[in-house]
Amino acid sequence: MASCAPLATEDRRDRMSPDAAPPAATIGSKIDRALAALGERMARSRRLILGLQWAVVLVYAVLIVVPTLLPLPGRLDHVWNHLTVFAQFVFWGIWWPGVLISMILFGRLWCGVLCPEGALSERVAHHSLGRALPRWLTWKGWPFVGFLGTTVYGQMISVYQYPAAVLVILGGSTLAAMTVAFFYGRDKRVWCRYLCPVNGVFGLVSKLAPVHFRVDRSAWDAWRKPTDGGRATVDCAPLVPLRTLEGNSPCHMCGRCAGFRDAVTLARRSPNDEIVRVAGRRANPWESALILVGLFGVAAGAFRWTGSGAYVALKQAFAETLVALGGERLLDLDLPWWILTNYPEKNDVMTALDGAALLAYLALETFVAATLLGGGVALAVRLVGPWSTARFHHFVQALIPVAAIGVVLGLSMTTASLLRADGFDLDWIDVPRALALAGAALWSARLAVAVVAGHAGRGARRLAASAAMIGVVGLATVNWASLFWTI
Ligand code: SF4
Repeated sequence: MASCAPLATEDRRDRMSPDAAPPAATIGSKIDRALAALGERMARSRRLILGLQWAVVLVYAVLIVVPTLLPLPGRLDHVWNHLTVFAQFVFWGIWWPGVLISMILFGRLWCGVLCPEGALSERVAHHSLGRALPRWLTWKGWPFVGFLGTTVYGQMISVYQYPAAVLVILGGSTLAAMTVAFFYGRDKRVWCRYLCPVNGVFGLVSKLAPVHFRVDRSAWDAWRKPTDGGRATVDCAPLVPLRTLEGNSPCHMCGRCAGFRDAVTLARRSPNDEIVRVAGRRANPWESALILVGLFGVAAGAFRWTGSGAYVALKQAFAETLVALGGERLLDLDLPWWILTNYPEKNDVMTALDGAALLAYLALETFVAATLLGGGVALAVRLVGPWSTARFHHFVQALIPVAAIGVVLGLSMTTASLLRADGFDLDWIDVPRALALAGAALWSARLAVAVVAGHAGRGARRLAASAAMIGVVGLATVNWASLFWTI
């Protein structure tokens, strides 16, 4: 029978009219072959990838260093005539939203092929002292702490506006990455694996990608090194345990392992697979904290605080309290620009009072968002049956699409305001924003129903838990929608 199958397929193809659409299986297998070939091409194209990385390093260095040497832009300066405004547009208007969108489409290809910080740290790691990794460095909470720290600090020093703030945050991170590489992990990306402040977010968002490096475990185990050579090891810079790799989260899509042991292939997959199937075994508390506290709380608050009435009310309340306590002189206390925004020449100074109100606002918004969303997910977990922490973490993963698209849309506020300042008419922008958010909400709802189905048999419990999770997705969507529209 096995030998007849190809003949039968060819026979059918012969009888098809030339204009007939090829069967889906044929298109699918063509895509599979093309992806596998692309992966192997990546493995053979290290020089090209290194060249690309150095080109990005050069652009990155120019954009973070040169603007700090120029006078701050005035009202008549634009994207096309002032490098600082251009760099601002590139970093916050295109680069960051683009990187997040690329994660949804291609996994962490950005990390493995283009990221300047990863490339520089790997270069330094080539000459690393290669010390053993200390326990503190491998703590799983760093991605959460790093994301929160850089997001809050970025708001305090106005990273979207000022080149010195960009140099401190992005340049500081790059310097830290290179320092870690000098001490730990010869030829490895220890910083990227454990300490990068966006590692956690990238790991979450890349779970949605429809492509991955698939490892066929039985082919791996059956492989024997050919007598005429063949790779005995693969140099995976972010230290991925390759044989047991099941998803995109830790993989930087660098392609170096493609074809290894005849078991690793760049392949397509369902974009729901990693969340519905793999995350049930691998989801952890730090990922839940990053989604609920980091993305829906702190990141949403960071996009919202400048126009928030609650921020103004908090500032007012703090000021009145200070006056009542006889601390009037603290009302106008300002701090160096690297602690709190301080650019008197631009009429832009955050006093200590502004800073305290900002921190309180972010804490308050985070508390409300995380409590409402986390509480809703906890309710869904209880509706399924007895409490299970692992189930809670798995359910939270269903919120990743709406969290990811929300952050992209939040970043698009900077893109839009820079383009508007340059005279572009963006009256149409609400339509794609609404469509993107609605699509992400539907995707999350679909995932929620599938994840719940994996934990509950058919019946009222499953229906009730699904309804609760859809309610949580709705709340999460409103959280982002309220950035753009008054509801
Ligand atoms: S598993 Fe490692 S070597 Fe393979 S593509 Fe991912 S990052 Fe590269």
